[in-house]
Amino acid sequence: MIIRKSPSEIEIMREAGRISARVLRMVGEAVRPGITTAELDGLAEEAIREEGAVPAFLGYMGFPKTLCTSVNEQVVHGIPSKSVRLNEGDILSVDVGAVIKGYYGDNARTFAVGQVSPETRQLLTTTEEALMAGVVTCYEGKRLFDIGHAVQGIAERDGFSVVREYVGHGIGRSMHEDPNVPNYGRKNTGLKLQVGMVLAIEPMVNAGASPVEKLPDGWTVVTADGSASAHFEHTVAITESGPLILTAE
Ligand code: MG
Repeated sequence: MIIRKSPSEIEIMREAGRISARVLRMVGEAVRPGITTAELDGLAEEAIREEGAVPAFLGYMGFPKTLCTSVNEQVVHGIPSKSVRLNEGDILSVDVGAVIKGYYGDNARTFAVGQVSPETRQLLTTTEEALMAGVVTCYEGKRLFDIGHAVQGIAERDGFSVVREYVGHGIGRSMHEDPNVPNYGRKNTGLKLQVGMVLAIEPMVNAGASPVEKLPDGWTVVTADGSASAHFEHTVAITESGPLILTAE
């Protein structure tokens, strides 16, 4: 069941989104060679609580931390750890969500750690462009798979592949609501987008092939071929005047 949100609910979700965006930027500013992902997680939890919000992922289905931190070939859901220290040339995908007044915000971004190779830089640029191509599709009357079609088109144009096993989602009073929002699909198929829908659009793009695997920790998703992967996400409301990115400062 898709739960459409009223303008006043979207206002509250804007707050959740703003906090999520602020924390993501702050974590990004702290990313550097030598820092551990546990240190980044500590910064994020403190910042979310200072805003009077609650970390969305902490305790979710047993997830133990505030951030998902996924390094290099890790796609999503990496667990922050004292033993994961970032190195020059790594990429780090950070996913963070916050809850305030009962509503969720959710966003993600892949950061370069120091200097990365031109190919890796291109992966990040393309994945962000793919996200924005999905976002600008969010008008009433468009269809759900138009979003994935736009995302996939950008990723594959540049010789990359989209992950199929994990998808974006509706979001509101729960972090994951209907509908699923795949990062692939045929144009002009799927349900009609309507004003009041709020979607987390989150392309996961692999430098190599699309298949992924889960590590024995039960959380961390990695590319099957070991290639690098990037992840960018915004929470987006469909309004009368088109897409409104809620996870913006
Ligand atoms: Mg999400």
